[in-house]
Amino acid sequence: MNILVTGGAGFIGSHLVESLLDAGHQVVAFDNLTTGSRENVKGVLAHPGFRLVEGDVREEVTLEPWVEWADQVYHLAAALGVKTIMEKAVYSITTNIRGTENVLALADKYRKKVLVASTSEVYGKHSNHALKETDDRIYGPTTIRRWNYAGAKAMDEFLALAYHQERGLPVVIVRFFNTVGPRQTGQYGMVVPRFVRQALAGEPITVYGDGNQTRSFTYVGDAVRAIIDLMACPRAEGEIFNVGSGQVISINDLAREVLALTGSSSPIIHLDYEEVYGNSFEDMQERTPDITKIKEYIGFEPRVDLKGILVKVVEYFREQERL
Ligand code: UDP
Repeated sequence: MNILVTGGAGFIGSHLVESLLDAGHQVVAFDNLTTGSRENVKGVLAHPGFRLVEGDVREEVTLEPWVEWADQVYHLAAALGVKTIMEKAVYSITTNIRGTENVLALADKYRKKVLVASTSEVYGKHSNHALKETDDRIYGPTTIRRWNYAGAKAMDEFLALAYHQERGLPVVIVRFFNTVGPRQTGQYGMVVPRFVRQALAGEPITVYGDGNQTRSFTYVGDAVRAIIDLMACPRAEGEIFNVGSGQVISINDLAREVLALTGSSSPIIHLDYEEVYGNSFEDMQERTPDITKIKEYIGFEPRVDLKGILVKVVEYFREQERL
């Protein structure tokens, strides 16, 4: 197949591109190289089935020929990361809304199947329990800088479902939960690459708040396998899926695991979000997916546990340092 991956030079996108090329597809990565980079796809730049197109999903004219060319579209391009969202709200909202609107309108015009990447953030402020796809989405919080990403993505989900229900467009929606692995950058806030880089550099490990908040981390390779399988599953069309793992760890324990694994003697320090962003940030105390639905549809089982993920991320950062 011909497959278009918007955000294909990004963290998840570049891993997806590799898997699709390995499976024998022709792949175009469409990316504006902001959070993504040429570096992420350097291993496949010379692959005859691959092409990197520099473009912005907000610009319909540049995107159109590639949607027409493709048999399937994975729409992963997004403005993301706490830092981007907090500091560049207009860019975040327009990229996440207009970009998805363009992708869906073009997919509708040329009748192409689309996967839309959403986020666990759409659950908004929730009580502490494993989150099911049928739980309420964001509707309450009004702090624009904090919640614009979640709000925009929730609107993207609605738009994708509207195209599906009104026009029969084949769409699959996935909500990624803290996906981690090599090539993720800590520049925009993500905790795992930040802690690993800090530990390797002997810098303080910056735990935000008391560190008792928990997350459930998923290996990028597991997430990529999940979305490829969902795109191949006809029953998944018009449905929303949590993509995550059931493993839960506190941020304090994560910091300790990273220190143990790297043998680093970096101190652990606690910072308030205000100190980091100069603005109050509503952090979630817990964010765990219920993955019953995705298991039922495609038999999804995460294969790499947190230890395995950390080993891969440490290896990646050590390699980067040697280059
Ligand atoms: N976090 C932290 N130190 C950092 C970056 C993040 O303690 O340097 C915390 C953050 O407050 C959150 C968790 O790690 O509780 C996960 O943050 P991340 O930005 O990776 O993803 P989020 O869950 O916020 O989408």
